Amino acid sequence: MPGERLQVTNPATGELVGEVPRATPGDVAPAFARARAAQPAWAAVPWPARAAVVRRFHDLLLERRDEALDTIQQETGKTRRDAFAELTAVASTARHYVAHGRAYLRERRRQAAMPLVTTARVSHLPLGVVVCITPWNYPLLLAIGDALPALLAGNAVVVKPAEATPLSAELAARWLLEAGLPMGVLQLLHGPGAELGPALVAAADAVAFTGSVVTGRRVAAGAAERLVPCSLELGGKNPMIVLSGAPLEEAVGGLLVGAFHNSGQTCIGIERVYVERPIFERFVERAVERTRAMRVGWSLGWDMDMGSLIGSAHADKVLAHVADAVAKGARVLAGGERRADLGPAFVAPTLLGDVNDEMAVCAEETFGPVAALYPVADAEEAVRRANDSPYGLNAALWAGDGARSLALARRIQTGSVGLNSTLLVYDSLAVPMGGMKASGLGRRHGREGILRFTRAQSIVSSVATAGGWEGLLTGLTSARAARRLARLLHLRRRLPGLR
Ligand code: ADP
Repeated sequence: MPGERLQVTNPATGELVGEVPRATPGDVAPAFARARAAQPAWAAVPWPARAAVVRRFHDLLLERRDEALDTIQQETGKTRRDAFAELTAVASTARHYVAHGRAYLRERRRQAAMPLVTTARVSHLPLGVVVCITPWNYPLLLAIGDALPALLAGNAVVVKPAEATPLSAELAARWLLEAGLPMGVLQLLHGPGAELGPALVAAADAVAFTGSVVTGRRVAAGAAERLVPCSLELGGKNPMIVLSGAPLEEAVGGLLVGAFHNSGQTCIGIERVYVERPIFERFVERAVERTRAMRVGWSLGWDMDMGSLIGSAHADKVLAHVADAVAKGARVLAGGERRADLGPAFVAPTLLGDVNDEMAVCAEETFGPVAALYPVADAEEAVRRANDSPYGLNAALWAGDGARSLALARRIQTGSVGLNSTLLVYDSLAVPMGGMKASGLGRRHGREGILRFTRAQSIVSSVATAGGWEGLLTGLTSARAARRLARLLHLRRRLPGLR
């Protein structure tokens, strides 16, 4: 219904914290008309001026961080620290692409077909209107983080944030306007994905999707139907490996960050932990102690270690994984229960032992503050079990030995591996981040993360038709001439500067 509003509640308190206009599929065509009208002029803005907009946005975000942190916290129920990590990741994305985007996008000369008489160059042109469809776990980062490189590449962008968390994206869009982004270049449409998503995919020139595997497949099918590029960052069941030589206390700290940051609602978060047997008992003991000591709750201060989940229905799903595991013989080492005393959607940080593959929590993504700990005989078993998953997003490895770590990391089938770290890849803006197997398609960050929003155009040139390569080929009239040309090709293969 036109004029309808989408109400936003704080999942930590149940309070109403804001509302936004709710779009319908009928709003998609006018939004695209505005985007298509605005995009060519935006693409024609010289790089320094385009980058200046994003640089100003970066500065605004850091200066007004308290307002941004309040908004992120209020619509997600997360802690201030988690919100701050989110905000800094957006600022880093902006900084990275302002600093390096021009070099990534620059037209480059490449090797020509025939030296001297031909040239070749490739340029990266904007696609047009890029659609970003994003989830609720990082409402500022995921809604805006992909939009920034898409915008810098000269595209217009339409974002559909998750319906539960539209406010952070609204704030960012307002600040981008204030930073000088022309009207119509970035638009937000709010509403249920099942309604708006298909209409958006049907109009997009490219789609960047972050969310579940099931929806990701739908989006990819829609994009395939229209032959437009899509990148998908989907789920994970990310493993962590801890070997005997590792500094134990640091590895336990890594687990706490990896499993409980953002209440475990992080696609690259840790849900499976394989620990070498000689240190298993000690690792469990320290992990349990430190997990139990975590301060769980919600406030706008900096005093909490872990906040709420996104809603009580999601908390039910997370606890169903725990209950199913316990019913089949798993041991709750820490947590394992709902914290109804704190609010409608709190789950205690949970560690499980004796998990086996009969249990849903073993292989399915939980997307909550739940990690299962498994003893393993050695590094070989750890790598084998880490790879035994339909997912392949991120992994963490504590081996206590740099060379061995690198060699093991190369055998793990995930899009990223953190050595002595769990979530570091997300802040490593120069390297591509994304999934293998069912965890996705395409990469964000680095060169790959901006070139995915462009189409390559190659311009090749010949001094003259008659004098160039084509002239050489069309001029072939005898076996002898062909033999001579073949000889030249043989020669070329051996010439370092020309092959
Ligand atoms: P989650 O379980 O994290 O909500 P989803 O994949 O359902 O994961 O949601 C991620 C985003 O995809 C949200 O913005 C949601 O509204 C949107 N979405 C849901 N269904 C569809 C669909 N059929 N087509 C496109 N987007 C969708």
